[in-house]
Amino acid sequence: MSNLADLPRTWDLTSYFPAFGGPEYVAFKTDLARDLAANLKSASALSDLTTVNVADWVKHIQGYEGLVSRIGHLSSYLGNISAADAANAEAKRESAALAGQFATLTKLQGELLRAAGTTDAAAWDAVLAAPALDGAGHTLRRMRAEAKHRMSRAEEALAADLGVDGISAWGRLYDNLTGQMTFEMHWPDGKKETLPMAQRRALMANTDRAVRAAALKQGNLTWAQHGETLAAALNAIAGTRHTLYARRGLPDFLAKPYFDSAVSAETVDAMFRAISANYELPRRALRLGAKLEGVPALAFYDLEAPRPIDPVPPLPWSEAVNLVDGAFNSGYPALGQYYRDCFARGWVESEKRANKRSGAYCTGSAVTGEQRVFMTYADTMHDANTLAHEIGHAWHSHVLKDLRPFAQDYPMTLAETASTFGEKLFLHGMLQTPGVTDSQRAFLLDQECSSAGSYLLNIAMRYEFEREFYTRRRDGELSAQELCDLMVATQRKVYGDTLAPGDEDPWFWASKLHFFITEVSFYNFPYTFGYLLSQALFAEFKRSGADFLPRYEAFLRATGTATCEDAVKSTLGWDLTNEAFWSQAIAAAAPAVEGFAEVVAKR
Ligand SMILES: [Zn+2]
Repeated sequence: MSNLADLPRTWDLTSYFPAFGGPEYVAFKTDLARDLAANLKSASALSDLTTVNVADWVKHIQGYEGLVSRIGHLSSYLGNISAADAANAEAKRESAALAGQFATLTKLQGELLRAAGTTDAAAWDAVLAAPALDGAGHTLRRMRAEAKHRMSRAEEALAADLGVDGISAWGRLYDNLTGQMTFEMHWPDGKKETLPMAQRRALMANTDRAVRAAALKQGNLTWAQHGETLAAALNAIAGTRHTLYARRGLPDFLAKPYFDSAVSAETVDAMFRAISANYELPRRALRLGAKLEGVPALAFYDLEAPRPIDPVPPLPWSEAVNLVDGAFNSGYPALGQYYRDCFARGWVESEKRANKRSGAYCTGSAVTGEQRVFMTYADTMHDANTLAHEIGHAWHSHVLKDLRPFAQDYPMTLAETASTFGEKLFLHGMLQTPGVTDSQRAFLLDQECSSAGSYLLNIAMRYEFEREFYTRRRDGELSAQELCDLMVATQRKVYGDTLAPGDEDPWFWASKLHFFITEVSFYNFPYTFGYLLSQALFAEFKRSGADFLPRYEAFLRATGTATCEDAVKSTLGWDLTNEAFWSQAIAAAAPAVEGFAEVVAKR
């Protein structure tokens, strides 16, 4: 094997299309637009199929599945072109045009849902039994379940039209208002400066505690000025949902987010019960943070700040790429081989250069069955971890690639399991490496502690707040003051004595965009779900070693064809509705917290 570090650090996209704007690209795009329009036209003519023509249905569903893959292929390609060259105006134009094709796809999906919902049970069973739809049962059953909770065609159309100036407008108001917000920063040296609100988050992660404190306090003066406007937006968004859910016959406001996550209320309740019974573990991690800061308890502005530990020296690419290689190959050889193949095939873009989009992601195409990883490696341990994370995502797609496209589509709840498993392999491998330095070790353990705090306390706090808000909103609107009071009470309950009294953030509900997203509600809990499930998976891997890996891959293969509960139960035998399962998953974070406690004690 040639040294991985010697391979090019830019990716090769020619298997998508030989050239951007070339004849293959143009033909693909033209055919896609034509087929989308044709399928929409014929699906709109699908009547209420009590006398169903099974062959006709199969054709429509297969056609839709193929179109989803093809639009995904084009979207992934254009996303990659833009990410690697942010100045490419032609790619931006093409992406904007593709949004129109996505709108057609959404209409097509709506027509299929409508028809699926009105088909009688016997006819629908005949469709499900069609050999050509083998492996699509889960997706089709979900389609039918979703269709059962729709209003009439005319009512759905009216709701969608009114939504543009209704719920979506409240979301846009939030984006526009907060996008223009400024606050007067008071620097510790006495200097005052007007800054865009967007810069506050970075200031809250400043190493100087006085900077963080000022950013929170001064920023909140601006949030308070707009308090009633933001409360009106939040009340309207929640109120619209309550109305639509009732009209669609949904039992409560959690049914939709749980359905989207392919998870049951029993499971989410069991998870949060286990978390609240085990707050002490992540709180212990926060107390270590307070000790490092030299304070009795943290303030809200300390939660996302880097801990004052020794800086980790830069980690050059040549070392990082081989550290990940070593960690993967010693623990999980099949993943290690895949990782090397990714580099050999030019699937990883890691070069540091101008005009690249920030951030990292993994993408792929069901048309080619290939994956790509995008990131910018900037010589930090954090970036090495990102590489392990994104390759974990790619591995998940690779394991699914021979299944039909419907069966490759997994919910948010299961989206981060393989990536976090990749991170854990890297972390575990690093901690076993004889050459690991004290500062690297401290950094890795600190990251684990910080994850425990984010997923088990911060997200639990957001979920509790949102759930209580939606419950109370059924009886009427909440004022800005009531929202602040609820936010403080929730923070006190979840953080306990690790958050200094008076140092909560009452305006967190206003400053957190997630509460105002109009496309999805309860945005955060799937992340905690994914975090804990991967904790459980990795703990089992440490116990059972290589014997566990075939079961792990069987689980990954099941993620697009079953609910979360069934995917886990059928391949791993675990019961997600059992609180004890989640308590064990939480306990898997204990060694890292103890390890970090030793690091802190030695200082
Ligand atoms: Zn991820």
